[in-house]
Amino acid sequence: MSPAERLLAVQELDTRSDQLHHRRQTLEVRERLSRASAVVQDLDERLGELEGRRDELARSQRRLEDEVSALAAKRVEVDTSMYSGQVRGPRELEALQLEAASLKRRQDEVEDQIIEVMELTEPVVAERNRLVEERSSAAADLGSFEAELQAAEAEIDAELAEVDEQRVSASEPIDAALLDSYEKLRSRLGGVAVARLVGSNCTGCHLTIPAVEVDRIKRAPENEVVYCDCGRMLVR
Ligand SMILES: [Zn+2]
Repeated sequence: MSPAERLLAVQELDTRSDQLHHRRQTLEVRERLSRASAVVQDLDERLGELEGRRDELARSQRRLEDEVSALAAKRVEVDTSMYSGQVRGPRELEALQLEAASLKRRQDEVEDQIIEVMELTEPVVAERNRLVEERSSAAADLGSFEAELQAAEAEIDAELAEVDEQRVSASEPIDAALLDSYEKLRSRLGGVAVARLVGSNCTGCHLTIPAVEVDRIKRAPENEVVYCDCGRMLVR
């Protein structure tokens, strides 16, 4: 096998490796995964806002309920005084009655406010529950896409490992300097550093090589590396 033929075998493996890397980068499931991840993130944000609103309403409700408890306790106190038998005169009784009525009015008001807060809370909680369900299904999608991606990557990685191994043995007999110039050519010439000479055509640039030149190439010693004008090494 000529050095160019050996390099051609290495190039086939490098091309295969490039294709596998490209496939790994552009796996379709990656797109689905990133969309699912954006959906989960968006739901988390919306849930965060809703839960903030829900907690704020719960705090208001607790504050109002505490106020109702305080008012109820105060009313018990006033009632106790009124019926204690220790009220001195009708003016004191009247004052206590006014206070009792005012406490009751205030309690009724606060209880109405509690109902309003509960009415505001209800749709917030319902929407939050709906989003929790939506998030759980989005998270399940995300998980399955992640598993799918991992499996696809593992499959490609196994193929890559095999190609890498083959590349090591294919490049072993090749002179280090020649391999180095192959790699430089390959990165400069779009991945094709070695081409076949078919008739008088270079399969790298598809140009016809003049007959005199073809003749010279064909007569060159087997282990001499010959080049096309496009810069590629030619396999005769
Ligand atoms: Zn060429």
